[in-house]
Amino acid sequence: MISALEALERLREGNRRFVSDVHNRDTLTNQVRRRELMAGQEPFAIILGCSDSRVPVEVIFDQGLGDLFVIRVAGNIVAPPLVGSVEYAAEEFGTRLVVVLGHSKCGAIKAALEELACPSKDHSPNHRAILDRIRPAVEPLLLRPDPGCPENTLEQQAVRTNILNSANQLRDESELIKQLIQKDGLRIVGAEYSLETGVVDFFDGVQEAG
Ligand SMILES: [Zn+2]
Repeated sequence: MISALEALERLREGNRRFVSDVHNRDTLTNQVRRRELMAGQEPFAIILGCSDSRVPVEVIFDQGLGDLFVIRVAGNIVAPPLVGSVEYAAEEFGTRLVVVLGHSKCGAIKAALEELACPSKDHSPNHRAILDRIRPAVEPLLLRPDPGCPENTLEQQAVRTNILNSANQLRDESELIKQLIQKDGLRIVGAEYSLETGVVDFFDGVQEAG
């Protein structure tokens, strides 16, 4: 299995190919690769991303069958079954890089901000369960906007804060993940995909991965 740093580099290269519209990562056809993978999988990265249809993980990183273990949920939130999915892949396949991938113009973040500004009774309990997990990350921004980046809108700051929050939750809320980080080189990094440019910016935990 490749290291977290190599995996990160592979994702960066793939995203560069996606942005330049060059897709030549592999000469194998999907059908050949599909048959190869019958024997098992060794995904080189685990991605916790948002369900947004504009952020299909394999596409934006130009990866194919068997490359990425992807968990997608609105707002890239962390909850026990999602932590369990990360644990499963890290333990079962030895995957050493976990990326929490948020994105610009995220509807879940927008809804969480709207709900804070003007609470509504219209959300179903299940929808509310998602907003409640985003709330602790974005609520402080309403009280104390970050003076360091005044050019960013509240929504942009909330996207980043929510990514940081999810990454920290993954680092802190699982004994198994903690052990893999301390002893086995597992790294959790945060990244934001720009709908505007197609670029993925890795901005959290990247030092440690290097
Ligand atoms: Zn989203």
